[in-house]
Amino acid sequence: MRMLPNADVYWNPWHGCRKVSEGCKNCYVYFLDRRYGRDASVIFRTKTVFNLPITRTREGVFKHPKGTTFMTCFNSDFFLEDADPWRPEAWDIMRQRQDCAFFLMTKRPERIAQNFPEDREHFQHLMIGVSTENQAAADRRLPGFLSFDLPYHGIMVGPILETVDLRPYLATGKVNQVTVSGESYEGARVTRYDDVRSIYLQCKEFNVPFHFLQTGNLWFQDGEIHHVARAKQRSLAKTIVFE
Ligand code: SF4
Repeated sequence: MRMLPNADVYWNPWHGCRKVSEGCKNCYVYFLDRRYGRDASVIFRTKTVFNLPITRTREGVFKHPKGTTFMTCFNSDFFLEDADPWRPEAWDIMRQRQDCAFFLMTKRPERIAQNFPEDREHFQHLMIGVSTENQAAADRRLPGFLSFDLPYHGIMVGPILETVDLRPYLATGKVNQVTVSGESYEGARVTRYDDVRSIYLQCKEFNVPFHFLQTGNLWFQDGEIHHVARAKQRSLAKTIVFE
């Protein structure tokens, strides 16, 4: 079963996004853009990095070698409506790099089917994850996503805002991996041990790989809120025991 890859090279063919649900409230793209005096609701196609996966060295070989995983569109949402005119070119770039993998996350899975290329056989190297921050988002986004035939279906419960029952979706046998994440950056909401553990146990029940990515700024465990520095959130997550 394919697993979520480690971050390799970030490829951001467009930048900026529109908020669609509770999970977007403290979006890191907005937060980081504010720091640089930019407005993340202004969406634009990137110039210098749009063709990143197919850029070549002076010797004429691809700058990023065979086997590279491109973490795609992490400064936006790949299926954002505003990006409809640019997406066909991005698909074509992926088509040219069958020797690499592309991983992307979306909160707009209802747009996947209508925006997916017809030559699906050329996209076996594509891994898509859907973000579901709460039960309502999971129930809205996951049924359609899982019914669309893809080589990889990932679920990201992040930022996790409550206990989410994923069992009906895990029971389909179509989920490759579940990742859970707390919320970082300004305004972060509390991540509760019990909520994360519940998903861990569900994954265990259905034998689906589970990954706890980070605790977030505010980690609630044993009746106490722990303030966790951004730099330590991933390493702390690795030490948490859910058994
Ligand atoms: S969909 Fe993702 S990138 Fe877009 S606003 Fe929401 S959290 Fe931010």
